[in-house]
Amino acid sequence: MGEGYLAMSEHELGRRRFLKGAAAGLGAVAVGDRAWSQGELPLIGSSKADYSGPNVIIVRFGGGVRRQETILDPPNTYSPFFLHDLAKRGTLYTNMMISQLEGVETNHGQGTLYILTGKYDKFKDVGGKFLGERFEAQVPTIFEYLRKSFNVPEHQTLIVNGEDRTDEEFYSFSNHHAFGASYRSNVLSLYRFKIYLLRRQIAEGNLDEKAFKQKSAELAKNEALDYRVKDASAQSPEITAFWERWRRFYGDSGFVNPRGDRLLTELTLRAMKELRPKMLMVNYNDPDYVHWGNASHYTRGISIIDQGLQQLFAAVEADEAYRDNTVFVIVPDCGRDSNRARSVPFQHHSNTRSSHEIFALFVGTGIAKGQVIDREVNQISIAGTVGQIIGTETAHTEGPVLDEVFA
Ligand SMILES: [Zn+2]
Repeated sequence: MGEGYLAMSEHELGRRRFLKGAAAGLGAVAVGDRAWSQGELPLIGSSKADYSGPNVIIVRFGGGVRRQETILDPPNTYSPFFLHDLAKRGTLYTNMMISQLEGVETNHGQGTLYILTGKYDKFKDVGGKFLGERFEAQVPTIFEYLRKSFNVPEHQTLIVNGEDRTDEEFYSFSNHHAFGASYRSNVLSLYRFKIYLLRRQIAEGNLDEKAFKQKSAELAKNEALDYRVKDASAQSPEITAFWERWRRFYGDSGFVNPRGDRLLTELTLRAMKELRPKMLMVNYNDPDYVHWGNASHYTRGISIIDQGLQQLFAAVEADEAYRDNTVFVIVPDCGRDSNRARSVPFQHHSNTRSSHEIFALFVGTGIAKGQVIDREVNQISIAGTVGQIIGTETAHTEGPVLDEVFA
């Protein structure tokens, strides 16, 4: 897809270049409020500057949610912490849209990549699977920008994923020639744990022949899913140690740990304690269970995310290194339809206006408090805005920076 996919006015382009210049300057001279004196300017290129800007936690309010059940009806919202508490501490965009241009889909994988890359693109499942979401981004993810600009190890850039979304395991880096696997983020999910566990069980040598064969086959099958990088699922020593502790705590069965989005919250809380991520994305997903059930699955999913948000926010407040040094960005992957004629009135594949209507909240260090912005903005503005927050240029994002967020 060409550069002009999202038509941008001359004015907007000019403004964007200006903001980018400002962001690049910020990265080189004053990284996260820290002024560098002339003699100790961080070298760009051979040795990268350490990252000392705010930590960024991106929360995908995911599985597709509508404004109706979240922000439009305050007395009846299913996300009371988000709307009545968190929103007041930050800048809420009530009219964020996913573009209605042809080819821009309102689906989980696509929305996640629009958030991560700041660009709309027509994604095709690499295996040609119908409704498959095995996509490869052509332009860098926000994680790659961070790791290319700053000295941040792989295990401190994390995506926390749902257990039955293996397609989404592979959004951790793009195919862009100047970025890609060397700057990837790491994924925490039960899929990754399973690979770790199978390898350990095989290596420990306590299996009988039948179990050995069965587990070897299962491991080979799981490893084969990760086709882009040789041995890509070999995670760094820090991540392996993380899984070792997880296994000691929850055991091998997979039945003891929390499931669904509660599991994602648990993984995130542990990761914050043990891995100290600088940038993390939690891909919540439970509201999407409405595809297979009744409406209460959907609204309960929203409440579980709301409780997760409350826990994550409390963890940040309780941790000296994160408190006053963290920005939350909370945004749905997509909306859902409003089709009263259907038994389940809110799917998200009909391309209705409602499935394009989302919202976004920025809250934390350096973010303006108590602001509600109702002008129409775009989901692809998230990545460039995060770029500005971390102080790095994002050359391939197409959405204008949301400059109201800066206090
Ligand atoms: Zn769905």
